[in-house]
This record gives sequence, C-alpha cells and structure tokens, in this order.
Amino acid sequence: MTIEQTRIYPINTGWLKTDHGTYMFFKGDAGRKVDLPVLCYYVDTGEHKIMVDTGLPDAERATKYHHSCDKKGELESPDALRKMGVDPDEIDICIFTHLHWDHVHNMKAFKNARYICTPTELTMAVNPLPLYYRSYEASILGIEAPFLGCQFELVEGVTEIVPGVSVFPTPGHSVGHQAVQVETTAGSIVLAGDAIFVGRNMEPREEEHWRYWVPQRFINTLEGWKSVEEIDRRADYILGAHDPAVLEHPVYPFEGMKLRKKREVIPGLPFYTGGL
Ligand SMILES: [Zn+2]
Repeated sequence: MTIEQTRIYPINTGWLKTDHGTYMFFKGDAGRKVDLPVLCYYVDTGEHKIMVDTGLPDAERATKYHHSCDKKGELESPDALRKMGVDPDEIDICIFTHLHWDHVHNMKAFKNARYICTPTELTMAVNPLPLYYRSYEASILGIEAPFLGCQFELVEGVTEIVPGVSVFPTPGHSVGHQAVQVETTAGSIVLAGDAIFVGRNMEPREEEHWRYWVPQRFINTLEGWKSVEEIDRRADYILGAHDPAVLEHPVYPFEGMKLRKKREVIPGLPFYTGGL
C-alpha cells in the first residue's frame, strides 16, 4: 500500500535573512531580522518520487537580487538529493506551490519530471506585475528565471496528482499558490508552501482577537486568510516552506508525531470563512 510507504523528506537549500514584520507576521516587529530556511520537499510514495518545489539558487545570486543568503553548508536541491542517495533523474514529478524565485531554482536538473503548477501562477510568473519583478526574476532585471523554456502541466482546483498526493488552491501569498496534501499513516500532511511561513502563523494573536497570526506577505489578504482556514480544515500536520522547526526531523511522518486539531474553536477568536 502506497500510504504505508509514503515518506516526506525536507531539504534545506539555505537561509535567508527576513524581516519579522514585513514577512513573517502581519503587523509583527518591523526591523527585527530573522534567519529562515528555504525548504523544498522530496516525497517518496514507493511508486513515485516527487519534488515539491526545488529551492534556492547559489548564495551570490540570492543575495544580489533578493535577500541576504547564507548557505551554512546547505546544498542546492539536486545535490542534496544525491547526498540522500536519490538521482535527480529518478524524480518523475515536480509540483510547484508557486513560482517565486526561492521555490523554483534548479528545476531543469529534474529532467525526467512533469512540472506542475496552476495556470494563474504561470501567467503571473511569465509576465509579472512590476511590483513582483524580483519575486519571479523577470528578464527586465537582466536575469533568466529558472522556469523559462519549461513546459508545465497546468492544474486548477483540488486535483489528485497521484494516489495519496493531491493539490488544493491556497491563493493569497501569490495569485496562483497551491498547497500539497500527502496522505500518510499519520494522517494528512499538508505542504503549505508560503501560505504560512512558520507554525506560529496558525496560532492566535490573542490581543488582536485574530484566530491566526498570518504572515504579512500576501498579494491578497482576504484570499490569504481563507487559504489559512482551508489548510486548518484539512491538515493533521503542516510543513511550511520556511519553518525552522521542520528541520528537527529528517523524515515525516515520524514515531510519536503529535497531530494538530483541525479547525479548533477558540472562544473570542472567530473564524471568518469556512475555508475556500
Ligand atoms: Zn513565495
């Protein structure tokens, strides 16, 4: 059975210095810098070898066009995979949560993979709103985005990619963001991409009566909030793309993994929607 064999391996492709208030938490402490990992995931179902996002470029490019980046010995995704004993040629599917620069580098190294994203995200990525030239590494900046020349398979809405692995829409951080839901012996593990940055985003900010303390980094806060509610409704466990706590375990699920309560009602901290 696939579900018994399914394992999720986080790969840290490096660290970025980001602002607590501008990125991590809505109205958080502006000016406080925090080191966040840039994670992608290798999902092995026994039948399929899947990458969810493909991570950062080298530190020099990341620092020049984006944020101060420190690899601290971390490898880019193809080399990290080789170190785990998996040849990048064996990857048959790359699912992209979205096409921001820190989620797509080295994707061409997975040359036997189907590349999957949403049509809305691809449209924005190839012709970004000027405010997001850097996010998508637009050619007007004199660089070439990693996804240029790649043929994508476009999926919309809740879609099963292979048995036990599906995607569902989570727009808000970007226009066509999607999360990946992986069924495991421990329940549904949601790879949330940048719909949340760290686990704390799913917890309340009580003094404001916010049921969630969502990230600041949304192109659309209403859609972003709905997406967080949808993740809350689906996930027994959440793995974000920038959460240092993920690195405490090399593989998921693990023995004794504590599952979360889905859509837990907390008096005084109302939900706003039923999800998406
Ligand atoms: Zn992003």
